[in-house]
Amino acid sequence: MQIAAIVVAAGQGTRFGGPIPKQYLDLAGEPVLTRTLRALLAVPIDAVLVAIHQDARADYERAAAPLADKRLLPAVTGGATRADSVRNALEALSPHAPARVLIHDGARPFISPERIAALIAAEGAAILAEPVVDALWREDAGHADAPVARAGLWRAQTPQYFPYQQLLEAHRAEAATGGKPALDDAETYRRAGHQVALIEGNAENFKITTSDDLARAERILLPAFETRTGQGFDVHRFAPGDHLWLCGVRIPHDQQLEGHSDADIGLHALSDAIYGALADGDIGRHFPPSDPQWKGAESHIFLSHAAGLVRARGGRIIHAEVTLMAEAPKIAPHADAMRARLAEIMGLAVSRIGVKATTMERMGFVGRGEGLAALASATIELPREHL
Ligand code: MG
Repeated sequence: MQIAAIVVAAGQGTRFGGPIPKQYLDLAGEPVLTRTLRALLAVPIDAVLVAIHQDARADYERAAAPLADKRLLPAVTGGATRADSVRNALEALSPHAPARVLIHDGARPFISPERIAALIAAEGAAILAEPVVDALWREDAGHADAPVARAGLWRAQTPQYFPYQQLLEAHRAEAATGGKPALDDAETYRRAGHQVALIEGNAENFKITTSDDLARAERILLPAFETRTGQGFDVHRFAPGDHLWLCGVRIPHDQQLEGHSDADIGLHALSDAIYGALADGDIGRHFPPSDPQWKGAESHIFLSHAAGLVRARGGRIIHAEVTLMAEAPKIAPHADAMRARLAEIMGLAVSRIGVKATTMERMGFVGRGEGLAALASATIELPREHL
């Protein structure tokens, strides 16, 4: 065997505070570890061995199942420290006797094939690392005390790449002597007297350690906005009168619509469609009919409130449509005025708004002229939530 990879995934990851270790958290629909393993299996290495926590067997099987790759060896149980986990995995690889081994963190899913190729091209041992670009300060009781020269300082990443036998012996020697645990395999290897080359990594290959890191990883994988659609429906009955309001337009008619507010079914249905797209209740919840201040209210208040909620969440309405169901009055002559008024209320271009109408073929309550009904839909874009 030429090259084997060891993935260190035995940590319990308590920094998140949750019960699931970070390498098993869902990242855009898949466990972090699944993505890490897929990235490694995308390059020509001969075997991948994962060191897991003894209690995480079920989590691991769930993460590994979608990969179905013969190069993925049965996982080994890690130890109390990172070094113990790596050593257990190195010992488990001895029947395969790989010439070289890559050690990689389970929580670095963005390792690129091109950076792995750069590592593998190295003569001896090599690690990915990034030069430090920020100013460095030594702290004293919460205050900047002394600057630290950053020239020549590098931040280590993984994978780290070593001749297998020499790394195994370095780990065995370290375990035998005890002492301060090494930061990483590069340190273990250096303690055994060998050289380690630094190969420039990239910023995308960060380790998911905090919930902010997980959110950053999702921003890389997912579009910034998500699209949502909501529906609304409304009905009001006729009462004696001389005009009615539909989609914010006053239409002379021999009847009016009866309701707590101005009974504009078009505005009500569309407001509910927007609340629906936001998954944020309905008109009745935002403007309770039991509250006398909304009696006789002009319904543009509801629609501008709903549109305002979309803006307040950093989103936008990309399309809105109302279908009015009526035998009379005729809607078509007013449709453009309705579109213009809806556009004005919501602060949108008219081209994003549709108004259409249908009769009910004289069937049902609309067909009998007892009242009117409206259907509406709203399509909105919202900044993707971290769910
Ligand atoms: Mg209504």
